[in-house]
Amino acid sequence: MMPDSFELGPIRPPSEAYSLLIRVTKNCSWNRCKFCHIYKGQRFELRPVEEVKQDILAARAIQDGLKALAQKSGYGGSLEAVAAAVLSNPPNEAYFNVAMWLNHGGTSAFLQDANTLIMPTPDLVEVIRFLKQTLPSITQITSYARSKTAAKKKPDELKALHAAGLSRLHVGLESGYDPLLEYMDKGVTAADHIKGGKNVVASGISLCEYVLLGMGGKKMWREHAVETARVLNQIDPEFIRVRTLTVKQGMPLYDDVQSGAFVRSSDEELVEEEKRLIENLDCHSYFVSDHITNLLQEIEGKLPEDKDKMLAAITRFQSLSPEERHNFRVGRRVGIYNELDDMANAQKHQLAEHAIEKLSDDGKQVSDETIYFLMERFI
Ligand code: SF4
Repeated sequence: MMPDSFELGPIRPPSEAYSLLIRVTKNCSWNRCKFCHIYKGQRFELRPVEEVKQDILAARAIQDGLKALAQKSGYGGSLEAVAAAVLSNPPNEAYFNVAMWLNHGGTSAFLQDANTLIMPTPDLVEVIRFLKQTLPSITQITSYARSKTAAKKKPDELKALHAAGLSRLHVGLESGYDPLLEYMDKGVTAADHIKGGKNVVASGISLCEYVLLGMGGKKMWREHAVETARVLNQIDPEFIRVRTLTVKQGMPLYDDVQSGAFVRSSDEELVEEEKRLIENLDCHSYFVSDHITNLLQEIEGKLPEDKDKMLAAITRFQSLSPEERHNFRVGRRVGIYNELDDMANAQKHQLAEHAIEKLSDDGKQVSDETIYFLMERFI
């Protein structure tokens, strides 16, 4: 009998929320970055190809079961309707994932965990081919990769992966500033980022580079912004996505923050850093801010044509009075606001004022520490 579950890893990018998740490797092959707690204490493993194939067959069995249910039940043959019903009461996480995937068209898959590209190329090609044969509705297959691994792969290997069906790689660039990469024990240099990124772009695989706002802290934010832009300009990836530094127990960086060795940037400083980053970008990427940790999620557009529009969103925030900036920061971090336009809603504005009264000692000013805490609740 076909198993009714399969293995899932802990994370995927926000843009892969509706993808089928197939765990090809387990945990992180590097696992040393100071700002990351996801896989700490977990050993990296390459999963055997046969085991991954069994998971793909299990996903297929769940999909077929839901299709049969759609035919038999009172859902008028609508697979989406059955998937939506399963989402409200899934028997397990794998069912939830398949139902979510089907409910959004069933076209994309994400290969977990942190650095799938490290798998021997023939094995990864075999997994991708099997996935496409078994679930032919999938037209987009994406994964995470480290720049170091992408820099080591031969151009022909990356081309073979693209030909097999690997559509996009998500790479944690984080920063292009070498002293900061070293301090954070990222295990790559700016030169590795450039080589790895260029290798991916040349292969035809779409590339999404992630930048970590706030990673430089109060000490290195300027160099972080300028050098990151320099590296991105050389890679010219299809997507640049920003997310904001969070500090949680279990990260080595947590101890540095406690000891004062690393001093975090405030929201206002993060916005200034992002401004400097965008000003220095001279590439043709889509810039996306869809991560929940970002203060200004509306900073989004195609470079270079939307650069002024993106900078205007920053100027708009910076032009607010200090009280209104504080209102927005708190409202955003408690989940009242999604974007600056939401401040025009009197009810939301009032709610943000109430939140300030509740969360501050003096009824006026919420501390940076409390604001960090509010942001970190979301992840
Ligand atoms: S490479 Fe990625 S997953 Fe691995 S430790 Fe660094 S940030 Fe975390």
